[in-house]
Amino acid sequence: MKRILICLISLLFCGVKANAVEIVYPKSNNVTINSESTFFIGNEKPEKELYINSEKVSIHPSGGFLHPVKLNAGENIFKVGDLEYRITRNENVDYESCVKEVLYNRSKAYQTAKDNVPIWATPYAHGLNRLQHLEKDIPLKVIGEFGDFYKIQLARDDYVWVLAGDIVKSDEVNSLAKIEGFIYNEEPDKRVFTIKLNRKVPYILSESSGLDLVVYNVSGYPEDKYEFHINKTGKLFGYKAYYKNNSELVIEVKNQPSVKGLEGLNITLDAGHGGSEIGAIGCLGDREKDVNLAITLKLKNILEQAGANVFLTREDDSNVALYDRVKFSQKNDSDIFISIHNNALPDSQAFSNRSGTSVFYFYPQSKDIGKKVLEQLIKVGMCDDKVRRESFAVIRNTESLAILIEVGYMIVPEDNAKITDEKFQQQAAEAIKQGLENYFNEL
Ligand SMILES: [Zn+2]
Repeated sequence: MKRILICLISLLFCGVKANAVEIVYPKSNNVTINSESTFFIGNEKPEKELYINSEKVSIHPSGGFLHPVKLNAGENIFKVGDLEYRITRNENVDYESCVKEVLYNRSKAYQTAKDNVPIWATPYAHGLNRLQHLEKDIPLKVIGEFGDFYKIQLARDDYVWVLAGDIVKSDEVNSLAKIEGFIYNEEPDKRVFTIKLNRKVPYILSESSGLDLVVYNVSGYPEDKYEFHINKTGKLFGYKAYYKNNSELVIEVKNQPSVKGLEGLNITLDAGHGGSEIGAIGCLGDREKDVNLAITLKLKNILEQAGANVFLTREDDSNVALYDRVKFSQKNDSDIFISIHNNALPDSQAFSNRSGTSVFYFYPQSKDIGKKVLEQLIKVGMCDDKVRRESFAVIRNTESLAILIEVGYMIVPEDNAKITDEKFQQQAAEAIKQGLENYFNEL
């Protein structure tokens, strides 16, 4: 009986608590946040008045709120209704680096230790510094180091960087390779260029007015490199470079698909996060992974009605690794890969007023389709949060067009009210489809 009473009392308290303000961020009432700003994200009954210290919080009709606050160095106390939050900001730590570049007297022979090794323009692993990903066993001439990076000489005047953990010492000596011939093939859906070498060499393939390929560490040219330009025959729709028979460098360039609307296109849809990966938490406590999946499933139906073949990286609340999402898209020979997400902001951007839709791409071939999609999402009422280049793993795939759509901000009440509403999710999905269709209609 006593136990029942205790249960009843605690139920009563739970009931009371559910009516009080709910803070979903910061995640606890005693945290360290090393930023000059942060925000309180949560919900309260819209008819209530809520103050954080003495500032009135603006509550959206949905109940959600995002209230930015400044943080002083040291301890900051915030009274949020009856609650007290203690947020500590550490004094700025001076990270001045004492790392210096070291050049060796004699070069050392190394090779890539695994597939998908990034080579970097500078010794900082910042996403947009990536120049190329190389497969396993490609010889590299190491001439120095800087912190965790090795300096690589590719040609007489060309240097790049790789992370020390990505390469291993090789038994070979550094020597120049030879180009032994070229083969060109036209297949129904692609053009295939093959460069025959006597061994693997590093290369960089990049988009220009077509594709530029530079093959390094080859003899017979004053700079130890060969440059090729591959013309476009229409818009770029995916390409890839790989080695065949150990020493033949193959470049495949897909043709622009000749389709009416979206009919017959292979489209991979990727609902972001899933399973234990929740993603961002909305001001009403909702989870990004669920919103992503809801929009994705609606988009799937709409695209199938338009005649596209749609593949889903996840159809339910399951965990899927990032690179498995890319491999899945490649396995299905996708023409387009679309990752659906919803956004959050870092503490430092608490006062930025950012809201709306962003569309991200990594390879330039995907920028225009991103613009078309954003245009349509703006038409259904989202703010323009720009088309942006960013190095997200799922869109670092050259083999198809690949974009990542942040439909709205989970933490911004206006956006949150839209993206959690089924009717709006349907409108957003229609808008994405319309954007894709416009892109193909204008080819
Ligand atoms: Zn996300």
